[in-house]
Order: sequence, then structure tokens, then C-alpha cells
Amino acid sequence: MSTSLPVAGPDTVRREATVLLREHRRSLTGVLGLHGLAAVAGLAGPALLGRLVDDVRRGVGMDAVDRIALVLAAAIVVQTGLTWAARRQSFVLGEKVFAQLREQFVQRVVALPLSTVERAGTGDLVTRTTRDVDALSHTVRFAVPTILVAGLTTVLTVAAAFVTGALVALAIVVGVPLLWVGTRWYLRRAPAGYLAEMASYAVLNGTVTENVDGARTVEALSLGRERRSRVDRDLERSYRAERYTLWLRTVWFPTVEVGYFLPVAATLLWGGWLASNGHATVGQVTAVTLYVLQLMDPVDQLLSWLDEIQVGASAFARIIGIADVPDDRTPTGAVPADDLIRARDVRYAYREGHDVLDGISLELRPGERLAVVGPSGAGKSTLGRMLAGIHGPRTGSVAVGGVPLVDLPLEQLRGHVALVTQEHHVFVGSLADNLRLARPLADDAALRGALDAVDALDWADRLPQGLDTEVGSGGHVLTPPQAQQLALARLVLNDPHTLVLDEATSLLDPRAARHLERSLSAVLDGRTVLAIAHRLHTAHDADRVAVVEDGRISEIGTHDELIATGGPYARLWASWTDTPVASERP
Ligand code: ADP
Repeated sequence: MSTSLPVAGPDTVRREATVLLREHRRSLTGVLGLHGLAAVAGLAGPALLGRLVDDVRRGVGMDAVDRIALVLAAAIVVQTGLTWAARRQSFVLGEKVFAQLREQFVQRVVALPLSTVERAGTGDLVTRTTRDVDALSHTVRFAVPTILVAGLTTVLTVAAAFVTGALVALAIVVGVPLLWVGTRWYLRRAPAGYLAEMASYAVLNGTVTENVDGARTVEALSLGRERRSRVDRDLERSYRAERYTLWLRTVWFPTVEVGYFLPVAATLLWGGWLASNGHATVGQVTAVTLYVLQLMDPVDQLLSWLDEIQVGASAFARIIGIADVPDDRTPTGAVPADDLIRARDVRYAYREGHDVLDGISLELRPGERLAVVGPSGAGKSTLGRMLAGIHGPRTGSVAVGGVPLVDLPLEQLRGHVALVTQEHHVFVGSLADNLRLARPLADDAALRGALDAVDALDWADRLPQGLDTEVGSGGHVLTPPQAQQLALARLVLNDPHTLVLDEATSLLDPRAARHLERSLSAVLDGRTVLAIAHRLHTAHDADRVAVVEDGRISEIGTHDELIATGGPYARLWASWTDTPVASERP
């Protein structure tokens, strides 16, 4: 079971939202000002109509009626113009805020410690980057502006009703208890409901992604039925979560509906009584009733979008929750004294209480080629990841020139030591962009130099637009060996003095090995290399060989020394080459 990524708490959500609002205070004030003016223009209608009723009852001439009608028409035109401008402004603001959030999110995701991403699995992260970001974008673009505007309109309309006829307007109050109680009931339950709903999507996403990624394994091991029932279970969970939130809405919506029809009836009844007893004019009753009718629209919007805000807040909590992942590197600013990489008493556990590395000390001599051999599962790859600074050890240290690798910022670390794996992903962008991932400020000459070093300049120059050719998904398709050379060229640009080469996952594709072997040795030349040898012939060519067994280095020395000692390496070598070991010879 994967550990999910953190979700931010309500306090953090509130704080981050406040920071955002504060940052955009000026634009926000502008937008609200425009909407306020539009709302005020909209309030003229009922007041004018009320006056018209009273004037007609008093028996004024037609020209007075025409004047009022003209003012009414002007008010509508002004309101339309102001609303248009206000909406435009609020959409622009929404887009700005959302773009900012998205950039922040991408930065945080890219900066996530690799170990966290590996532990959390892809489902959660993919759900956050797609579904949650979409939900948030909807909230920021539509819900927030609408709620602000509807809130403002509501307040202004109620105020106008009271100014027109305070006594008549008292009737509005009858709707408040229903709206208040119903909405509170809903808001108490909704956030947890929506979070559960989203978490269930994340699990479902994870299962489906796994099924697709591991389709072959599923088929090979006949896991189809088991995987299907797992998807069914996940779907069931999503279904239940969705049903729950739907139930919340089926209770809340009707309550609210009654809540804003009631005041209309109440105003008419109460106003009628007041008017017939001489406490209000018919015009006042007309105007206030029209205001109450006008209130229905903003209150309806306000409440229905509150629902959307809940969804958005849950999504926001998951998105900013990414920032709560503790960083696994703590740059101290220390500068390595030399290029010597040294591991001291390194222990590491993937699961608590199960050390995979059990106190390893090792020093890489500058320029040497050290092969690490040992049985599968002994901890070789884990040691490689420690020495490349991918993980920090649980206890002990791995340092370059006296500075622990986890104390170096990533971009500095990559200039000292790099792990060479099979992941030679070609990113969408130009060939030059792909190379500059390694060194953002490299000029074209440096890029060409790197390509040349790995024997790739010829084909790069033959591409339709040379270095500027778009590659990656949707662009020019690079062959697997070309993609591998691209990865090697990136290493040349990074120019680390030490490379950790994990052969199990190393660059070399046997189909293209011959050509690539040359490119690789060009990259290895002059650097310290730790090669994790899953095939022993690599060890034979190395300067030194370290044997890792059970999380410990059981012996270390040159090939010849170890063969002469007749220890574990000699036995491995013997079984590999199928020749008897010296000491066991008759
Ligand atoms: P080797 O490279 O020598 O085959 P590894 O370093 O890959 O050995 O693995 C050492 C041990 O750590 C094995 O028991 C393996 O199952 C375990 N292990 C490796 N990677 C992980 C991981 N990501 N999570 C949990 N256990 C792991």
C-alpha cells in the first residue's frame, strides 16, 4: 500500500488563500468596485418602479411617467456596461491567480524528493496534477468571482430594501433561519465528504495506472480476476463517496429553495397588511417585493457556488499539501574541499527496522573504476543510490570533499556525482532544451561539444532544424540509441567527476551496444566510476572489486588479489566462469 502525500490543514488553506488575496488586493478592489457600481445601478429599477406606482396613484401626468421610464432605461444600460467591464476584470484576475497557482504547483512537484514520489506512487500525484488542478481552476475562475459579486449584490440589495421601506423589509428575515441552518448543516459535512471523494479517485487512478503499466505481468501471472475485483472495489468506494455528497446536496438544496421563496410571500402578505393600515405606501411594498425577488438570484448563486468552493478548497488543500512534504536535502552552503567521495558506516532501510545496508564504509579513489558485485538483493543498487546522493543514509554519511551529499543543492550535487540509469526520457521541446536540462546556461557551442563527445553530432546536425528540432512526444522521434546518447551528452554537460553506473538499469541497450559502448566510454573517460556489476566480466576489467553480501562489504581488492584470496569473489568468479577455484583445486 502506498503512503499518500500530505493534504494541507484548514489553517494552512486559509493562510495561503489570504496571502493570495492580499497579493492581488489592488485588482480585487478594482473588480469589486466595478461590480458594486453595477449592483447599485441595478438597484435603481425597483425604487423607480415603486415611485412610479405611488406617482400614478397620486395622479401625475404622462410626461412624469415617461421621465421615470427613461431614467429606468438609462440605469439598465449603465448596469449592463458596468457588469460587462466588471466581469471582464474578474476573469482576467482569475486567470492571473490561477496561472500563479499552477506555476507554484509545478515548481513544488518538480522539487519533490524522489524518495517521496517513489513511496507515494503515481496515482495520487497524477490525480492532484489533473483532477484537482482542474477543480481548482474552476473555483478560481468562476466560483470566487461569482461569490464575491453575489455577496456584494446581496448586501447592497438588502440595504436598498431597508432604505426604501424598513418596516416592509423586515419580512426578508423569515428566510434567514432556514438558509442558515440548512447551509451550516451542509458545510459541516461537505469538506470531509469531498476529500473522501477525491481520495477515492486517487486510489482508483492508481489501480488503473498500475493495471496499464503492469499489463504484461497481470497477464503472465493470470491476475486478471484479482485486478478486476480490485477495480470494482475502488469503484464501489468512489460510488459510495459520491452518493454521500449527493445525499448532502439533496437535503440542502430543497431547504435553501424554500428559504428564498418564503420571504417573497411574506413580504407581499406583510406589506399588504402594512399598506392597508397606512404604515407603508403601495409603492414601497412594490419596490421592496421587487428587491426581494431580485435577491433570489444572487442568494441562489451564493449558495450554489459555496458548494463549488468546498470542492475547490479540498482541491486547494491537496495541491498545497505538496509543500508539506519534508525536503530530504538541507543545503548548508558548505563547499566540498576536494572530489573524494567517502561513505562512512552507512545504514539504510526502506522499511523501518529492516536495514538493507548494514554499516558500509567505502572510499572512491579519484579516477578509479570500482566494480561492486554480489548476490541479487544484497544491497548493491541501494548502495549506488546512496553514493549518488539520491537518498540520504539513515545513519552514517556519504560525503564529497567532507560535505554530506544531502547538504548539497541538487544542481551542485549533479556536478559532483551522477547516477546513470536506463531512464533516458526525451522531453517535449527542442533538442537544445533537452540538453540544457543539464546546464541551463550552456551556449550552443557547449551543446555541440557535448553531442560530439558522445558521437551524436552527426545525426543531430542532420535533423531538420539541427539543435532547434522539436523532439519528444509529438515532435521528431529519436531512436532509442539516440535517446541514450542524448542522456550521455547531458552527463557530459553536467560534468560530474564521479559516475555511478547501475548495470541492471544502465543505459546500454544490447541491440545498440556496440556503437553506444564507444559513447559511454567517452563519458567515463577521466572520471571516477562505481559500476554495479550484475555481470562479472565488468568486474574483471575494473581497478578494484567490492563484494557486497547482506548489506555489508565482505571483501574489497583487485580482481587478482581477490581470486588469490579464494573468498566469496573467487567463488562467484568460479561459478561464473565455471572453472574450479585455486584453493579448491585438487
Ligand atoms: P541488489 O542491487 O544487490 O540486487 P538492492 O539494493 O536492489 O539489491 O536491494 C536490496 C534490498 O532492498 C532487497 O531486499 C530489496 O528487496 C530491497 N529494496 C530495494 N529497493 C526497494 C524499495 N524501493 N522499497 C523497498 N525495498 C527495496
